Parts: sequence; C-alpha cells; structure tokens
Amino acid sequence: TKEDVKNYLFRNAFVLLTVTAVIVGTILGFTLRPYRMSYREVKYFSFPGELLMRMLQMLVLPLIISSLVTGMAALDSKASGKMGMRAVVYYMTTTIIAVVIGIIIVIIIHPGKGTKENMHREGKIVRVTAADAFLDLIRYAPVGILFLIAGKIVEMEDMGVIGGQLAMYTVTVIVGLLIHAVIVLPLLYFLVTRKNPWVFIGGLLQALVTALGTSSSSATLPITFKCLEENNGVDKRVTRFVLPVGATINMDGTALYEALAAIFIAQVNNFELNFGQIITISITATAASIGAAGIPQAGLVTMVIVLTSVGLPTDDITLIIAVDWFLDRLRTTTNVLGDSLGAGIVEHLSRHELKNRDVEMGNSVIEE
Ligand code: ASP
Repeated sequence: TKEDVKNYLFRNAFVLLTVTAVIVGTILGFTLRPYRMSYREVKYFSFPGELLMRMLQMLVLPLIISSLVTGMAALDSKASGKMGMRAVVYYMTTTIIAVVIGIIIVIIIHPGKGTKENMHREGKIVRVTAADAFLDLIRYAPVGILFLIAGKIVEMEDMGVIGGQLAMYTVTVIVGLLIHAVIVLPLLYFLVTRKNPWVFIGGLLQALVTALGTSSSSATLPITFKCLEENNGVDKRVTRFVLPVGATINMDGTALYEALAAIFIAQVNNFELNFGQIITISITATAASIGAAGIPQAGLVTMVIVLTSVGLPTDDITLIIAVDWFLDRLRTTTNVLGDSLGAGIVEHLSRHELKNRDVEMGNSVIEE
C-alpha cells in the first residue's frame, strides 16, 4: 500500500542519513582540524554528540532490565533455558573463532617487527579523554553521530606521527575484524538458517553505524532492538532475552582485538611466545572480552588481564592508545553485528519452542 511505501522510504532515508552523517562528520572534522580549537571549544562543538550518548545511555539500564524480565516471562522456564543455552553456545563459539583469527592474522602479518624504542620515537601517546520519545531519539541519531565523529577528529592528535609499526598494527586489526565480520559471521548465519545473511545485515545498518559513531554496544542497544524487531522481524521474545546479555558478554570484536594486541605487544618487545602462552592469551582474551563492559575503550582496560597472564608489560598499552579510539569503533561494530546475527540464529534454532508456546497461549502472545 501507499502507507507501506512511505514507511519503507522513511526507514531507508534514515539509514542513508546516518551514513551521510558519518561522511559529513569526517569531512567536517578534517576541515576544522587546522583551526586548532581549544579543549573547551571542542567540548562545545561536540555537544550535540555528547547529547546523543547521554540519551542512549539513559535508556540502556531500564531497557536491559525490562526487556530481560518481559523476555523471560514470555516463555516457560524450559524454553528460556534452552534458548539461553543456545545463545551461550553461539557466544562462546564465535568468540573463540574471533580469537583464533586475531592470533593467526597477527602472527602472519607480524606488524610488531622492529623495536619498541623505534615505536616510542615515532608514535605519540595520546591523552585518553573519558568518553562517554524513542522514535525521536532515532531521528536525532544522525545529528549526534555527525558531531561525535567530527569532534573526535578535531581533537585527535596528529596522525602524521604514527609510525610504521602502529600503521601496520591498525591494518592487521582491520583485516582480522573484516574476516570475522564479513566472512565468518555471515557464513555461520547462512549455514544455520539457510537465509541470506546480507538481507539480514542490511536491516541492521543503522545499528552498525550507531555502533561506529558511539563506540559503545550498550549505548547502541536501543537501536539494535529497533533494527532487529522492526526491520528484520525477529521475535521479541528472542531479542529481549538474548540482546541485553549479548551486548554485555558477547564481544567478538573485542576478543579478537585483545588477543591480537597482546601478541603485537609481545612482538614489539621481541618476546618469544611459546604455544602454551598463546593458548593462555586466547583464554584470557576470551575472559577479558566477556568482562569488558559495552562502553568506549573498555577493551583496552581489560587487556591488562591478558598481558599480565603471560608476563607482558602492561605499560605498553600506551603504545596502542593512539589508534584505539578508531579501532574501538570498528570492534564495537563487529560486537553489535555478532549480537544481532546471534539473535537471528537463536530465533531460528528456537522456532519450535516459540511456535509451541504460541499455540499454548492461543497465538496472541506478546504482540503488544
Ligand atoms: N567499546 C566496545 C563495546 O562497547 C568494548 C571495547 O572497548 O572493546 O562493544
């Protein structure tokens, strides 16, 4: 109908607008950089972005609690137990695959060739700034994202000083994340559901761009819900049950990143890792990704666990801080993608329970 067409255009207009916001934000950021704004000016300039972050964060806690409660209440305990089990198996499998990809890629590319001294000279340590009506929020998202990105580009330190090793490291992380996000996860989705993963991912675009803009999977959660339920038609009993948990514990991008970064730090220290230590890194990177909160740069903090476990110097985290704000955005996007595809997979696996429950309840459950 005409109404449907209008809705379709409206929805896609927003995706387009959000993507445009990222591009315009990047251009604006680079245009304003030469003016060397003061700290205070940057803060004022980034205000519309900060506003988005705060609005999203404000929504998250009530959203997590209420969605978990309604999600569990909508199913009997046996069905939710099964669904929970499937979600956990999915989380663990994909996280371990991510870690393995991270390790293989960093060993093959070997971005840490050369010495650390060399890196200290070239690299510059950047100050880490603490980051940090529903439909209207979605409408506001593109504006907020534009300023979040522009503001970050204005305030970042000159990238010109980033040396060869750090540049190679950045490329290595990007390659690893791409393999996981573009090949492994879609393939897994296809193998389990036999549905086209790209159609599914298309429906998630706005959530992915929001993750890129906010570097926080928790803050993106309200948008992830909306994309999954409205664009992809994933059952609310599934999304409400698995998304809040996923956003907090299922972080494929972070796991891959932590393992890769730890081995990179070993490489720049010329620290030979034996097989046992590599296994230790994969286990602690998995734990560290589960422990990391879905907030900006949380992964960088929990990396201490990984480094300590094999006796690498934790101070060396400062070596990679300069590029972390950027890589954080990419791993957060991977995290959100993993959670969302997971919801699709769990829904598919749980379709019988969901249907039985519908029949039991006389079909009209949770249609709201
Ligand atoms: N920022 C990431 C997230 O929210 C966590 C991390 O720092 O890796 O998913």
